[in-house]
Amino acid sequence: MRFIDPHIHMTARTTDDYERMAAAGIVALIEPAFWLGQPRTQVGSYIDYLSNLVGWERFRSSQFGIRHYCTIGLNSKEANNEALAEQVMDVLPRYLLKEGVVAVGEIGYDDQTAIEDKYYRAQLALAKELDMLVQVHTPHRDKKQGTTRSMDVAIEMGVKPGHVVIDHNNEETVQEVLDRGFWAAFTIYPNTKMGNERMVEIARRYGSERIIVDSSADWGVSDPLAVPKTARLMLDRGIAAKDVEAMCYGNALAAFGQTGQMKEEHWTNPAPADQRMLFEGNSVLRGQTPRVGEAPVAPGSIENLVFK
Ligand SMILES: [Zn+2]
Repeated sequence: MRFIDPHIHMTARTTDDYERMAAAGIVALIEPAFWLGQPRTQVGSYIDYLSNLVGWERFRSSQFGIRHYCTIGLNSKEANNEALAEQVMDVLPRYLLKEGVVAVGEIGYDDQTAIEDKYYRAQLALAKELDMLVQVHTPHRDKKQGTTRSMDVAIEMGVKPGHVVIDHNNEETVQEVLDRGFWAAFTIYPNTKMGNERMVEIARRYGSERIIVDSSADWGVSDPLAVPKTARLMLDRGIAAKDVEAMCYGNALAAFGQTGQMKEEHWTNPAPADQRMLFEGNSVLRGQTPRVGEAPVAPGSIENLVFK
């Protein structure tokens, strides 16, 4: 079985992570623009970060045989710095149109302040204008209300539910998200929040339609193998393989592939990974022998994963 992780922050992860992800069957990933754990103080930091997502990180991923896409946006936390937010809004269109950018994201609410609302709406308008998809980060506090509001405002701004992936769902939010026609993504964190045991129960109860599993792995305690591990657990618990495949691969492709930036042929018919390649003169290697043209994914390699 092969996998897509449609929400993972690889700039915070290591080359070991890339190797383990490829070995576990992850063929493509989406890296949403987010904050860094501490606020940026200048628009220049933002510009360099966005350039990194569409540049070096995309290259770095390719060196391990994983296709890298990203979403571009002003996150809700940093939206609260209005002077910075205004400057970031000015540079977003330039990045949204770059190759490999599959959506405006991750945007939405954190504390649900008026200023977050202002920039959420401004970015929804931008998505509509550019005919792009939207990836929504729902708040960790007041989640139910924040999720409802995220959908209300998307509809109010004229963005179609089918063009919006609502992320960080839980048992309280999923029904409404599905009923209203949005995509419902679930972030699987180790030992907390949406653990993979709970995801199995959600799959049992709601089936697989428009449901997406991701890791949101970043600089915090998180697991870049959350998608394959959850797939393994779902299979072990008797969820049908076609449903597991939909939640851990097919639905992410169907949702984020709508605008044509993400295509299955990108990884089914790829140029072989070539670690002799450079990006602006820089390599991922530190004296190692470059691996060239090796299939990064051994068929059935999910079987080799160690599960707790
Ligand atoms: Zn994220």
